[in-house]
Amino acid sequence: MIRYVRSLCCFLAAFVLAATAALGQSKPFHVLAFYSTHVEQDHVDFALQAIPFFKAMSERDHFDFEATSNWDDMNPSVLKKYQVVLWLDDAPSTSAQRAAFQDYMEHGGAWLGFHIAGWMDSRETWPWFADFLGTVFYGNSWPPLPAVLNIDDPSHPTMKGLPASYLSPANEWYSWKPDPRRNPNIKVLMTLAPSNYPIGFKDTLAGGDIPVTWTNTKYKMVYTNMGHGDKILTSPVQNRFFENALLWLGGRNQ
Ligand code: ZN
Repeated sequence: MIRYVRSLCCFLAAFVLAATAALGQSKPFHVLAFYSTHVEQDHVDFALQAIPFFKAMSERDHFDFEATSNWDDMNPSVLKKYQVVLWLDDAPSTSAQRAAFQDYMEHGGAWLGFHIAGWMDSRETWPWFADFLGTVFYGNSWPPLPAVLNIDDPSHPTMKGLPASYLSPANEWYSWKPDPRRNPNIKVLMTLAPSNYPIGFKDTLAGGDIPVTWTNTKYKMVYTNMGHGDKILTSPVQNRFFENALLWLGGRNQ
């Protein structure tokens, strides 16, 4: 009888532990994706594919996902309802939107930025964002082409389950100045493999160290250069990264 009670207790304790762990894993968080329909068509195409992609993910992974094309929603009273903000190929353009985003990120908000979300014509356009991103756009490749990406840190939660390198679908690739890797706050997660160079015909990235995905360790943020055109979400490997990144930013898989 005692043995029976003890094993029942063990069973119940294990059940409670498992249930608590499951609850922790599925703790709901709220995501708001910003996008635009008046920008370059390839960027609209990506955003309009990414919205149902992340919506399906939210049902699978038990978080809330909403999208808005009204960038004035980037204000304190809206942002406080969300734990993670996505920029699907655009960025805030007014000083009020930018100030709200800065305050959000400096008070525990999380951000996943895609492709042209990291673009600025110069550092002076928004100096805080240049420091947040850790660099400034420098050049690009054209036309969009697939590229082999190397994983820099396989132990990072956003890289879980990814191979050491993979073929990323056709994208317009950016270069950066200075190299974000030289910024002590930046942890580079993926880099264009040297075997890609030169990449592009009309516009060419000839070589050098070109990170494509990184995090600024002072913030809860991931920037990724992928996001141009309608092929981006066709790689299950890359899609796993997108899912890892969003869940990590949402407080899961730490
Ligand atoms: Zn683009």
